Amino acid sequence: MREIVLATRPQGEPKESDFELREVDAREPGDGEVLVRNVFVSVDPYMRGRMTGIRTYVDGFDVGAAIVGGAVGRVVASRHEGLSEGDWVSSMLGWRDGGIVEGSTLRKLDPRVAPPSTALGALGMPGFTAWIGLEDVGQVKDGETIYVSGAAGAVGSAAVQIAKRKGLRVIGSAGSEEKVEWLRSLGTEAFNYRETPAREALADGIDVYFDNVGGDQLEAALTALRPFGRVIACGSISRYNDEKPQPGPRNMAFIVTKRLRVQGFIVTDHTDRFGDFVRQVGPWVADGTFEARETVIEGLENVPAAFAGLFHGENTGKMLVRVGPDG
Ligand code: NDP
Repeated sequence: MREIVLATRPQGEPKESDFELREVDAREPGDGEVLVRNVFVSVDPYMRGRMTGIRTYVDGFDVGAAIVGGAVGRVVASRHEGLSEGDWVSSMLGWRDGGIVEGSTLRKLDPRVAPPSTALGALGMPGFTAWIGLEDVGQVKDGETIYVSGAAGAVGSAAVQIAKRKGLRVIGSAGSEEKVEWLRSLGTEAFNYRETPAREALADGIDVYFDNVGGDQLEAALTALRPFGRVIACGSISRYNDEKPQPGPRNMAFIVTKRLRVQGFIVTDHTDRFGDFVRQVGPWVADGTFEARETVIEGLENVPAAFAGLFHGENTGKMLVRVGPDG
């Protein structure tokens, strides 16, 4: 089997030469273990932070080690009760053709309910991030106005659709006209932040900001927020490739004067709510009224390019790499 390892820590933007593809021997599963063949692997912005090697809420990746992360695949051989050959499972196998996993760490997927790839997007970590951010962190309410940056990405596109269903007025931003058109088709007001500065687009004011981007957009949102507004601080992708820390928003004083609540969160702190999320959003994905859009790149060797593409807006919806056939 092949796997992708971190060859060197990226400086600035990640490059393909920061990674290497290597061959590893496969072995038979032991007691309680399962051999899984990956079909889809996930590339996610948080992986950039792990590549620095600095521990934050999670350990850094070691140079020379395979990149672990979300993956969906099929069981090839099982010595774990409850999993059989052919079952679809989601795992943390990461950027590999597949491998041996403790069966107890796998989530079995039912392909009759939703396409298995959605376990990495709308019905997986990104969708859950959007849901928990709105539901528990921001506690958004019917009638409020929310601004979502990075709105055409995996988390953002889930956030705008959930917020619409909860009765909010939704404004989203993204980096191309095609993405803006798609966001409008989802019933949101949308703008291209490369063409229209966020401070202009948000001039009417907002109650809540779902921040995926940080930087200038956070500054614009702090200006646009009404008194007692909230920031759901989810991520700041515009800063992930900085080689040294950049100054923050110049208008932090608004947090005091407008009595704003800025709440960061990490989705993995909320796993006890995952079942509630799937019960609510699962039926919407299953009946097709919730768009679980994906951008799918082909081939394990192209995983580093797909990852780098996240920082250039090359994805609409969830960015995935197909590394093997379905069947
Ligand atoms: P996305 O699918 O949104 O992909 C990244 C997108 O970010 C790109 O498509 C691009 O879209 C946009 N982008 C990239 N660079 C910039 C930039 N400099 N300025 C503005 N936009 C940029 O990724 P995810 O949905 O997986 O993640 C979205 C955010 O949520 C990230 O910040 C991530 O770290 C965070 N996150 C946080 C979690 C938590 O627990 N707190 C869990 C999961 C994700 P465009 O074309 O619009 O520029």
